[in-house]
Amino acid sequence: MTVLVTGGAGYIGSHTVVELLNAGYEVVIVDDLSNAKADVIDRIQTITGKSPAFHPINCADKGGLCNVFRSYNINAVIHFAGFKAVGESVKKPLEYYRNNLDSTLTLLEVMEAFDCHKLVFSSSATVYGPNNPHPYREEMPAIQSSSPYGWTKVMIERILTDYCTAHPEFSAILLRYFNPIGAHKSGLLGDDPNGIPNNLMPYIGRVAAGQLEKLTIFGGDYETPDGTCQRDYLHVVDLAIGHLKALEYAQNNSGAEAINLGTGNGISVLELVTAFEKVNNMKLPYEIGPRRDGDLPAFWADATKAKELLGWEATHTVEDMCKSSWEFAKKSKES
Ligand code: UDP
Repeated sequence: MTVLVTGGAGYIGSHTVVELLNAGYEVVIVDDLSNAKADVIDRIQTITGKSPAFHPINCADKGGLCNVFRSYNINAVIHFAGFKAVGESVKKPLEYYRNNLDSTLTLLEVMEAFDCHKLVFSSSATVYGPNNPHPYREEMPAIQSSSPYGWTKVMIERILTDYCTAHPEFSAILLRYFNPIGAHKSGLLGDDPNGIPNNLMPYIGRVAAGQLEKLTIFGGDYETPDGTCQRDYLHVVDLAIGHLKALEYAQNNSGAEAINLGTGNGISVLELVTAFEKVNNMKLPYEIGPRRDGDLPAFWADATKAKELLGWEATHTVEDMCKSSWEFAKKSKES
């Protein structure tokens, strides 16, 4: 079976490609490398001993995408490609709407032209917005977000749901990720954003590697047990495996199905920092700073649906996540 992975050179995409290749799928990657490095493809090959087909094009390039579908018999698509920086999206809303919506619409049009009916989409817990109580459950209203990035996820979920209504044979699994961190055990793949990281774990990695002076914890006065925000951090390899399970589910079902991928546990920023220090035997310089605009105090997943429908459960511990993140940050610094 051949799977097209859009954004397959990115952080979650590359880990998913590794799991797909290890499970025996044929993989075709489409990635314009706007936020990924070309050597990720070589690293995937080093890890798996297999080389996925790679096309460096943007998903909104309809002609290019048609050529890809013409060249392979693609049975299903996992769609990661999209801009993903929350803060940047506030400053560049048009770019975010244009890129994320165009690429999805183009992909759907091309899938329709080539009779491909199975899609796994990379959505986010951001679609639950600020008003739902946690833990978040899939049947809660998921119709609001706090950034243009988040709104593109809300809108794409809507588009896919409407598309499924019009095309009863189509299956779209909307995977709502919580906070993926960690890295591949080889140390060859991980979260390596361009510039100064916005997300917590890549920032911690750069501080630990001495590339940034100290971590600022955004807010110490939230109504949480230690005053810092709580999130549901899950290992990126668990998340990648969730995509394989979703793919299997999509093969045997139709319609749009939203599914949370999280551990079901809330961990605070301070707890994560402490776990990182302990497991890697180091002190991490940090200070408590002001709150970051738009941050919610606490949220985590109700992960029961993923277990019931997909037979998926996160298995890696917070210690695994902290250890592998540091192994990757160390190697990235050396290379
Ligand atoms: N955070 C922090 N310092 C940083 C980056 C993030 O304290 O330099 C906190 C942030 O306030 C949030 C948590 O870490 O509570 C996770 O943030 P991240 O940006 O990784 O993911 P989000 O939950 O915002 O999608």
